[in-house]
Formats: sequence, structure tokens, C-alpha cells
Amino acid sequence: MIDLRSDTVTRPAPAMRAAMADAEVGDDVYGEDPTVRALENRVAALFGGRHAGLFTPTGVMANQIAVRLSVAPGEELVLDADAHIVAHEDGAAAWHGGIQTRTALSPRGLLEPADVGRLLRPGDAHTVGTRAVAVEQTHNRGGGSVYPIEQLRAIRELTADAGVALHCDGARIWHAHVATGTPLPAYGELFDTLAVCLSKGLGAPAGSVVLLPADRMAEARRMRHRMGGAMRQAGILAAGGLYALDHHIARLADDHVHARLIADALGDAGLDVVAPETNLVLVRLSEPRPDAATVAERCRAAGVLVSVFGPRLIRIVTHLDVDASAAAKAAEAVVEAAA
Ligand SMILES: *Cc1c(COP(=O)(O)O)cnc(C)c1O
Repeated sequence: MIDLRSDTVTRPAPAMRAAMADAEVGDDVYGEDPTVRALENRVAALFGGRHAGLFTPTGVMANQIAVRLSVAPGEELVLDADAHIVAHEDGAAAWHGGIQTRTALSPRGLLEPADVGRLLRPGDAHTVGTRAVAVEQTHNRGGGSVYPIEQLRAIRELTADAGVALHCDGARIWHAHVATGTPLPAYGELFDTLAVCLSKGLGAPAGSVVLLPADRMAEARRMRHRMGGAMRQAGILAAGGLYALDHHIARLADDHVHARLIADALGDAGLDVVAPETNLVLVRLSEPRPDAATVAERCRAAGVLVSVFGPRLIRIVTHLDVDASAAAKAAEAVVEAAA
């Protein structure tokens, strides 16, 4: 099977497993796991050293800790309407934090500064207050779309003027960095909190890191504990993350090439493809083509797995377990399935 459903399906290769097996560990709830500490410090340093890092088992937990640090129950968080935090976290911001969201439909999921300006509310005796804005880099439902750094800076200016926090759901921020050449610290300096994922494109088996102001760390550690995410000898997982940071960032460029290869093949066959900017390819299936479930089923029969992303939308994701020949084969299967 060529599995293009997500970049979460990768399996750790022998060298990563060896690094994990050899990891020095301790009890991280006591703050005594040296490998977790090393990972948290490494990620903080990569983004410029302004933040402290906290290891979490999942990206959802990293996002939820971040937004709860800035937004209290009954207060408001502004995002685009298709944000992962809105669409794919089972209402966690409401469930855990009693947080109200205010959203705008945005081109490819990228919030426009004018919309942010319009959506921010001051919070007074009569009106709920916006406490944070969240952006997603790259944007999942937008098809791996990338915020230009100028657009992020314009949003940062608005949130700074309003005294509102800015969070980045950066599960795939590594891809934006590789696709645009924007240095990671240029992203780090814009955000109050930033969640990054080690188990998507980077290929570790589990784990995210949330970057936050060092003086909020005690609070963040308590939130993680409350959510059931305080792990013990987690250095075994963190070692996979450290290995991924050392070996799997620059190679994301290959995934972007493979995504373009697939998109070009589908486009040449007359399919309606959203031009990929990174490693996600969205394909719209308009009548009289079969619907997304049918296409995915036919692909499966041909040995290729893709995601149904809407009734007439499929998502194809390239990752480190897919080489150029697998990408070419997959493109052929999709073209046939969608005929
Ligand atoms: C996958 C993803 C997450 C959450 O990650 P999990 O580790 O699956 O909890 C958050 N944000 C975005 C944009 C994602 O794609």
C-alpha cells in the first residue's frame, strides 16, 4: 500500500529507533528526564530562544495549553473558520477551556489582516473580549498553504496594538520554513505561543512541543497534568523528536517536490487540483466525476490510500515514506479512479 492519507502514518526507521532505545531517561513529572529537557530546549533555541518549551504527547494538547494560557473561560479566540482548532479538535477549546471562538472564512485558511482588525473586540461591560488570535502555519484544510511572513507581521501588529496574544498552530511550520527559506527565529519572534509537531512531517512516533513565555511554565505544566498529559520516562519519545530535528527537516523539500509531481500529473489529466505550496495536495471532484468516497475506494483497490476531505474533495499527503516512484504510481491510480 502507498499510504498518502496523512504525514502521520510514517514509521520510525532503525536509526531513529536506536536513538530512542539509547535515550537517557528520568521521571519528567519531577522534571528529571534529561532527554525531554534537551528536546524542549532545542526547539526553543531553534525558534530564537525567546520561549520555554513544553513536551506534550499530541498537537491537540499543545494547542489547548497555549490557547488556555491566553484565553480564560467565557473569553474569545479569533481564528479562520477552517482552523484545526475549530474543525479537528472535537471542540476542545470549549470542552477544556469554555472558550468562545469567532471566525472568518479566509482564502486557503489564511486570515486576512483586515478580517482580524474587524473581528477583535475590546471587552467591556457590554461586549465579550478577544484575548487571542490563532493562525495555522501551514494550513491543513487550506491544502498546506503558507502565510507569507509579511501577512503574519501585519497580524502581529494588530494584535500588539490591541493587547491581544498571538498563537501559532505550527504543526507543519517546518514545511513553511523549508518552502520559503524563512528562518525559524523570524517565526519565533512573532508569536506569544507556538505549537510544533514532531510526529507529522518530521516522522517521530509521537509528540509535540508548545513554546510559551518562561514565566507561564508552572501554569502550563499544571494544565498538561490536568489534561492527563504528564508522562514519566518520556525521554524515549523525545529522543525520536531530537533525531527528527537533526535528520528530517531539510529533507521536507523532497516531499514538496513529490507533491508537485502528483499535482502536475493530476492537472495534466484534467483534474481540478489546488496548486500545492508544501506537502498537501487537494483535489476537487466536480460532476460528472465520481465523489470522494468512490475515488478513495477505487484508489484503495489499486493499492493507494488517500483521505476523503469532503464529499467532493480528497487530500493527498506526501511524507518521508513516499519516494518519487511511489508518488508517480499514486498519481496514476488517482487519475484512473477519478475517470
Ligand atoms: C495534526 C494537527 C494538529 C494536532 O496534532 P495531533 O498530534 O494529531 O493531536 C494540530 N494542528 C494541525 C494544523 C494539525 O495538522
